[in-house]
Amino acid sequence: MPADFFDRALVGAMPWVPRPLIWRFSQRYIAGTTLRDAFEVVRELNAAGCTATMDVLGEDSTTTQQVDAARDLYLEALQGIQSASLDCNISVKLSEMGLRFDIAQTRRVMRELLSDARDRGNFVRIDMEDSSVTAVTLDMYRELRKDFDNVGVVLQSCLKRSAVDVDELLHGGRTNVRLCKGIYIEPEDIAYRSPDEIRESFQRLLEQLFEGGATRVGIATHDPELVTHAEKTIRRLKVSKHRYEFQMLLGVAGTLRRQLVDKGHPLRVYVPFGELWFNYSMRRLRENPDIAGHIIKNLFSAQ
Ligand SMILES: Cc1cc2nc3c(=O)[nH]c(=O)nc-3n(C[C@H](O)[C@H](O)[C@H](O)COP(=O)(O)OP(=O)(O)OC[C@H]3O[C@@H](n4cnc5c(N)ncnc54)[C@H](O)[C@@H]3O)c2cc1C
Repeated sequence: MPADFFDRALVGAMPWVPRPLIWRFSQRYIAGTTLRDAFEVVRELNAAGCTATMDVLGEDSTTTQQVDAARDLYLEALQGIQSASLDCNISVKLSEMGLRFDIAQTRRVMRELLSDARDRGNFVRIDMEDSSVTAVTLDMYRELRKDFDNVGVVLQSCLKRSAVDVDELLHGGRTNVRLCKGIYIEPEDIAYRSPDEIRESFQRLLEQLFEGGATRVGIATHDPELVTHAEKTIRRLKVSKHRYEFQMLLGVAGTLRRQLVDKGHPLRVYVPFGELWFNYSMRRLRENPDIAGHIIKNLFSAQ
């Protein structure tokens, strides 16, 4: 039976695993449940030569109260980052800010966050969610960048549309993009499915962004092959350090991260925190069945 089958079976069993056990294994990916935990982790990352971006965990808010709570936490984060002189910005999901039930509210909240961040010399990255909201997320980014130059967005190399999106964004003005593979499972007619195709698309998009004059590109990957290609591209095109940064998730690929920092590349770590850690953890664990395997083993061998 293929190893892949066991991996998928393990991941399929995850919803039945007790939350405290998932929490134990998720700790490497999550700064903690409070803002204070996140500040602590960011301080350590800064001391190790990395910048950071904070993510208040949560998505698909369904009430105004949820949106307000997330907004307040982000505002508190921006204030704390400034007063502690941390090198850290914020990453926000539009669905957490009400995109799926009240886009006018999302627009208001995003303007509020961007304006507060601008006053503090800070920056807001709009994370990219699944393909049902790609177009509306890019529209929101285009609208916001007319008034704010401290906003960026994310493109996913698994989506076939991304090359056209890069072109359109570059033609529209200042373009600040984080490029990643894309974490959501998308239908075959709109997305590349094979790892090689996704990787090749990533390489093409990165070159397109640099050659087309993107203001800044976040190269968000732990894939050694993509990192090597990015380093070569940066050298070949003589891309200066203020136009790019590598980006990695907290708890992933620590050795590669240190190697890049030691070579003098700018590197930002994505630091998620908050009470709503469960869905994020499940996504990380789904990506890494090795860990899912450890969890299931612990389930049967613990005590
Ligand atoms: C900073 C940052 C921001 C992101 N933002 C978004 C976003 O807004 N929208 C979106 O759709 N996706 C986002 N992603 C996720 C991204 O799309 C990929 O799903 C994820 O980064 C895995 O792809 P990879 O390029 O690292 O390559 P992979 O081939 O998946 O991973 C390469 C290697 O990295 C290690 N690795 C990868 N994942 C894990 C893990 N969970 N645990 C342990 N080791 C691991 C493994 O050694 C693996 O072999 C983001 C990723 C990063 C780094």
